[in-house]
Amino acid sequence: MRCIFAVIVCLSALGFAQPSVGTENGLTRLVFSLPSGAKFGLVRQGNEVSIRFQGTPPRSLRTLLNTPQVAGYRAAPSPGGSTYVVTLKTGTSYRTLELSNPRRLVLEVRSSTAARTRPRAKAPAPVVVLDPGHGGIDPGAIGFVQEAAVALDVALRTKRLLEARGVQVVLTRADNSHLSVSKATDLGLRAAMANSKRTLFVSIHANAAERAAQGIEVYYFGEAIDQRLLSKAILENGGGALGQRLTQEARGVAQRLMSDLLAQANLKFSEQLALKTLRAMVRETGAVSRGVQTAPFYVIRNARIPAVLVEIGFVNHPVEGKKLGTSAYRARLANGLAAGIITFLNSGNVQR
Ligand SMILES: [Zn+2]
Repeated sequence: MRCIFAVIVCLSALGFAQPSVGTENGLTRLVFSLPSGAKFGLVRQGNEVSIRFQGTPPRSLRTLLNTPQVAGYRAAPSPGGSTYVVTLKTGTSYRTLELSNPRRLVLEVRSSTAARTRPRAKAPAPVVVLDPGHGGIDPGAIGFVQEAAVALDVALRTKRLLEARGVQVVLTRADNSHLSVSKATDLGLRAAMANSKRTLFVSIHANAAERAAQGIEVYYFGEAIDQRLLSKAILENGGGALGQRLTQEARGVAQRLMSDLLAQANLKFSEQLALKTLRAMVRETGAVSRGVQTAPFYVIRNARIPAVLVEIGFVNHPVEGKKLGTSAYRARLANGLAAGIITFLNSGNVQR
């Protein structure tokens, strides 16, 4: 019995010890399991990030990773727990976040390509993708205003505000045009712009409702918690039979992502982006906050960077719909959206 007990203790210590490691184009993520209640602290010195964990010390270990961003890590017992030292390669930056159920700490290390080619240059400008929904043959929702037109106007205003703050902006469309006559291809082309060379992705839409609803809501990718959200996803995914098919496809992705720790970490960043953009837009406009939700939107299903879909208001609401028709109100929406994006970009350490 004692022998078995010793083996279990040893395995659990090792289980705590070894982070799972994943790489994507331009980044490496290390995910550490955290025993519930255990504290940790993080310090950067030069190219090393030290993380001290409270709890069972691991056996000393040294692991060579040699990804483009991380050379490797080592662990050793320290008073009351253990310390992991992760060695970053030059020209990288990192951020952390904490996940719950089960509790984990994610260390995300990114390459900054400009820093690599020009060692003394400032950190490269973040690149934000703004996606004004619909356009061309697809006007989107129609009320006192047309969704495709207000989404484009708010995107163009937000672009100017972000550029004035040193942020690069890529638009999926810059005028009243579609990217493809096929809705699936159109959404696929927009989604492909949310690649890891960019920093974050914001799709801009407006709502319509049968009853008099109003307010702003922000979504990140995931399953819909009720039929209303599912119906909205079907509509934004092209509507009708096509919308149903693309929504089913997106729901399949949502199911697969549940067991993908690295994707879950990115979704947690998306949630932070959603919360910050919603808060800032509501503050700027005084609009009703309808909260942050998840839904299987096709355009953000495979995003490798924080990605959200913003519904800026209801085009058919007797008050809000008319407000969306004024440039003063759209300017306030853009101010809020830009401010929320800047707040997110400046929060290097995103903690829950
Ligand atoms: Zn839309």
